[in-house]
Amino acid sequence: MEQNWNALDAYISDGRNPNERKLANNTYAIRRGGAIAIRLHKTDVLLWHEDRVTVSFFTGGWFTVTTKDRINTFGPDGWNVWAVRGIWWLHGPDGFKTRFWDSMTLDPICQTIENEADGPNFKAMDRSNGLIRKLITGYLRGLTDETIADVLSQDGRGDCLYCQIGSPFGPDHLESHLREKYYMPNLIRNAYRTRGYPNPDLVLSIDGSYGPERVRSVVGKYLRSELLENLATN
Ligand SMILES: [Zn+2]
Repeated sequence: MEQNWNALDAYISDGRNPNERKLANNTYAIRRGGAIAIRLHKTDVLLWHEDRVTVSFFTGGWFTVTTKDRINTFGPDGWNVWAVRGIWWLHGPDGFKTRFWDSMTLDPICQTIENEADGPNFKAMDRSNGLIRKLITGYLRGLTDETIADVLSQDGRGDCLYCQIGSPFGPDHLESHLREKYYMPNLIRNAYRTRGYPNPDLVLSIDGSYGPERVRSVVGKYLRSELLENLATN
């Protein structure tokens, strides 16, 4: 079906519940006042506004293949998000191309980004992401098999208390660990906890003994997803 406010409105109205209707796996069309949202899990990835023309895009920080797929499937016809080396681009008709950013609002008729002035400074963002990537690479290089074995045998004394609380106090705090090459159990444990394993501590203890390569990979993913801005980090 053609994707626009009217089509989604008709689709919801044809369903049993006047306010929402399932569109795909974990994906619903939901009325938000006069607007219509496309919700994937807990994130409204699209919001078709009450004006029935403009549409806003969101990732909720989840720059994933599924988010991209839902935006492309249920966003305006002729408009698509493409990922190139982790960077998302919005492509439109007639060669229109612009960097994607969270909460950008497109007018697909006039082919303009309505809130363009609110967008990020991509130059500064790319520069800071580049520096952080270097810090992460250096940190992972120091996370040798020996360091992993040593860190995981520590009793937790001398461990970072902020990391122990679980959610780090903003990216600056985590970044300071990279600069100091500070290796400790809590950071590695947090990396495993964010992976969604049912028993992260058990997986970590197995990896610690048999799969140091995987420990580095899990820690790397954690650091990239916590520290890099506006990028696909998987
Ligand atoms: Zn810490």
